[in-house]
Parts: sequence; structure tokens; C-alpha cells
Amino acid sequence: MTDSTLISSAAAVVHPEDRSYDEARAAWNLAVDQRPAAVVTATTVEEVRSAVAYAAEHGLRVAPQTTGHHAAALGDLSGALLLRTALGGVDVDVSAQTARVGAGAVWADVVNAAAPHGLTALSGSAHDVGVVGYTTGGGMSWLARQYGYACDHVTAVELVTAAGDLLRVTAEAHPDLFWALRGGCGANFGVITAMEFKLFAIPEVFAGMTIWPAAQAADVLRAWTAWAEQAPDRVTTSLRFLRPPAMPGVPEPLQDTPVVVVDGAVVGATDEESAALVSAWRSVGTPMIDTWGPTPTAGLLPLHMDPPGPVPSRGDGFAVETLDDAGVQALLQAAQPEEVAPLLSVELRQLGGALGRPRVGSGAVQRRSGFGLFAVGMCPFPEAAAPIDARIDELRSALAPWSSGQVSPNFDERGDDAPSAFDAADLARLRAIASQVDPRGMFHASLRLAG
Ligand SMILES: Cc1cc2nc3c(=O)[nH]c(=O)nc-3n(C[C@H](O)[C@H](O)[C@H](O)COP(=O)(O)OP(=O)(O)OC[C@H]3O[C@@H](n4cnc5c(N)ncnc54)[C@H](O)[C@@H]3O)c2cc1C
Repeated sequence: MTDSTLISSAAAVVHPEDRSYDEARAAWNLAVDQRPAAVVTATTVEEVRSAVAYAAEHGLRVAPQTTGHHAAALGDLSGALLLRTALGGVDVDVSAQTARVGAGAVWADVVNAAAPHGLTALSGSAHDVGVVGYTTGGGMSWLARQYGYACDHVTAVELVTAAGDLLRVTAEAHPDLFWALRGGCGANFGVITAMEFKLFAIPEVFAGMTIWPAAQAADVLRAWTAWAEQAPDRVTTSLRFLRPPAMPGVPEPLQDTPVVVVDGAVVGATDEESAALVSAWRSVGTPMIDTWGPTPTAGLLPLHMDPPGPVPSRGDGFAVETLDDAGVQALLQAAQPEEVAPLLSVELRQLGGALGRPRVGSGAVQRRSGFGLFAVGMCPFPEAAAPIDARIDELRSALAPWSSGQVSPNFDERGDDAPSAFDAADLARLRAIASQVDPRGMFHASLRLAG
């Protein structure tokens, strides 16, 4: 064991033989044993630039990462420098209703900074997902069908290029890059150091979850899918077949018990209107738990019961364009809601609304209606991976008649699906932009554009 090489007074290049290597390379997803050639944790723009220069000098690719929620998609990191961006800071401009965040910020940082001012951001379901990774992959919040993707509301991105330049990218300066960074996965173009985006004056929503025993899964799924595709934009929900683990924090009646859960939020309606909007499926059968009601918008972060911290997980997702009766039947057969295992969850996120409509000035994010399916299992040891993968493959093939096979960058964890994430013209445009800013292919992203 040796001590690592310093690139600034505070940042070091950590190599496999260094004593801090295991700590430096650890990802949020504990199932991913990422083994880069070197790791730098950068807390300033200068450290990012020094790390990129070090990589260029030593012939290494650069894989930017904030939390490692999406580490499974990175694949082989031998020959790569893992560049952890830990640039902190959340500045809320209350009168302009905007936020500026450093590339180390996670959603809880933003939500907690904005909430005292009655403002909120289009955060995802997990408090500790990184703002930059989430947003450059699209970003689907509980307000998404009303307001669109998080990346639709980005106003500026600052990034360090392969040449070591710090660019401030806006609609006016570098418009092609601005388009690409909003949905095309930031790490294909550089290392993002900061991002600015709009906030929304929405202190409260009508939100909650309803949980039924798995025996009622078929009735709930039928009612929810029949409702979801024609529901108004102001409501965004998710349906899951879930088997919560037996662990502290999970309510006792739910531990290791297959259930069906619908959760989400309604924005901009009275409580009576909101309750009527979700009654089509909420009134089905006999729920075990039902929590819908007025909720501070900051209270959306724990709604989905995402893990409180790092876990070993293995999952993948794909788009389902529509679900008719036969599609519902195929999903029920493949997902096995009364068993769920070896998966933890099979989830359908409700798309459409502003997520599906063309938008003037939109970025590279693909507009989608129907549903986003994401299936995930806990993978605490390598042998647990094969049955999880097999079940996800079964879901994919069972739903093939209802799916174009397209993926959303944020929910593609196998990391090999760029051609199926974008239509052909957008993919060609993304590749052309990437080859301009990164002509030698230095950057290594979770969703790689190379053919
Ligand atoms: C529990 C959980 C809940 C989730 N909920 C949602 C949700 O509600 N909605 C949704 O849309 N998605 C959701 N996701 C998916 C999530 O948005 C993606 O996994 C996202 O990529 C995570 O970003 P990260 O920075 O936390 O992860 P990381 O693994 O650190 O980063 C992911 C990728 O983003 C890029 N990246 C990260 N930092 C930088 C940087 N500084 N510069 C350039 N590129 C960078 C890299 O390509 C990197 O590989 C969820 C994921 C999990 C595990």
C-alpha cells in the first residue's frame, strides 16, 4: 500500500495500490465493484481541470460520477479515471425562482434549500440522487406530467471539456451543446461542475400512496392502466408490484410481503378535485394503507420509500407505449405480483402529459407517452444477479408487443442502449456534438453514444 499522488493541495489521484482506493471508488450501488485505473474526488473546478489534464497525460478515459446511483451502467473502468464530482453549494435566488448547484449536490440539498421560500424543484423520488446525473438524463419527478422533464427547465450548465476549457453553456452560448446536455447524458460531453435551473412556487400538493395485498394486483393494475393513459397532466403516479425487504424502517405488516402500491401527486387542484382525479383506482378492492391528502411539496422526497442509503441493487428499464387488456395480462404473468422475487419491485411510471408532448426549445430528451417500466432486485452477492437478469429478460420479451424497446437514460442500467434511447436523427446529432467537444473520445458516460 502506498499513499496517493496529489494534484492539488486537497485532491489526490488514488490508485489501486493506495490505501484509500476502496473508499474512493465505492459507489452508492453496493452491487457494483467498480475498479477504475485511478480515482479523483474533486471539490473545485480547478481540481476537475487538473484531473482531466492528468487523465490526458496518462492516456486515461474520464468517467464523471457524483453518487454512483447509476454505477452499474458504467461497465468496465479499467483504463479510466473515475472523477467523483463533490462540488457543493446550493444557491436559491428567491425572486428569480432559480437555483444554482454545484455538481456534488443531491436532491435533498435543493429541496431543503428551496422549501423555506415556498419553492420546489423537479426532484426525483430519492433524496440522495445527484442533481446533475438525474437532470442530464432527463429527470422524472412527481410533477413531471404537468411540468415536463427536469432538464426542460435548465437555464445554464458549466462544464470542463476534454481540452480542459470551462464552458458556460446556455441557449445563447453553445446552443448545440445546450441541447445535448438536456437529455443526452452530460458525461458524453465533459465534466459538469455546476447547473442552474428554474424552481416552482408550489408549497403544497395532494399526494400519497395506496397499498393493497398482492391478491388484488390484477384488479388494481387493470383500473390504473385504463385510467393512466387519459389522466389529466396535473397528476403523476407510479404503480409497483413490490416485496419490501424485512428490515428496520419497513412497517412490520409489509416486511417480505408482496403488495401492489400506487403513489404520486396531484398539483394545482383543490383537495376535492384531486381526490376525484385518483378515485378510479383508489376505490378498487380493500387497501391495507391509504395516505392521500394535502402534503408539503418537500414531503414528496420520502413518498416512494426509496432506500435511505446505499444498497446493492440490479435493475433495468424500458418504455411500454401502451397497455391494453392483453398487455396487462402479459405483465401480470411475467411480473408474478404474488411472488415478485427474485425482484424487489416491478414498477410502471406514468408517462404522457408534458413528458409526451413536443416542447419548443426542448433538449435531446425523448418525449414519451405510455409507461416507463423499471424492474429491480437486491443483489448482495454476485450469484444473485443471474435470476434477476432472467426475470427482467422475461418481462422484456413478454411485453415486446407493447414496447418499442426504447429506454430512458435514467432507467437504463445495463449501459449499452444508446441507439435505443434516441431516435436516429437525435442520436446522429448527439454523436456529432460529442465528437466536436471530445474528438478523442476521452469521456466515458453511463449511456455511451459510440456506435
Ligand atoms: C433509488 C433510485 C431512485 C431513482 N429515482 C428516479 C426518479 O424518480 N426519476 C428519475 O428520472 N430518475 C431516478 N433514478 C435514476 C437516476 O436519475 C439516475 O440513476 C441518475 O443517473 C443518478 O444520478 P447520480 O449522479 O446520482 O448517479 P451517478 O452514478 O453518480 O451518475 C450517473 C451518470 O451521470 C453522469 N454524471 C454524474 N455526474 C456528472 C458530472 N459531474 N458531470 C458529467 N456527468 C455526470 C455520468 O454519466 C454518470 O455515470 C433513480 C435511481 C435510483 C437508484
